[in-house]
Amino acid sequence: MRVTVDQDKCCGAGSCVLSAPDVFDQRDEDGIVVLLDARPPAALHEAVREAAAVCPAAAIALEEATERV
Ligand code: SF4
Repeated sequence: MRVTVDQDKCCGAGSCVLSAPDVFDQRDEDGIVVLLDARPPAALHEAVREAAAVCPAAAIALEEATERV
């Protein structure tokens, strides 16, 4: 799985950080998303999917197909 975030779309809601705190963080100054791990381990994939699903700004994009480990 490869994760990308669009900081221009992000509205700083923080839902992604609640869902997957090992993968997403927020900038201290304005709450905009920071990607901590663009290739999270399999154990985190479900949480990352959840984060992408709950993001109100659709700022999180996932690529699932490239790797099956
Ligand atoms: S859930 Fe979406 S809008 Fe909210 S901080 Fe995360 S990326 Fe930004």
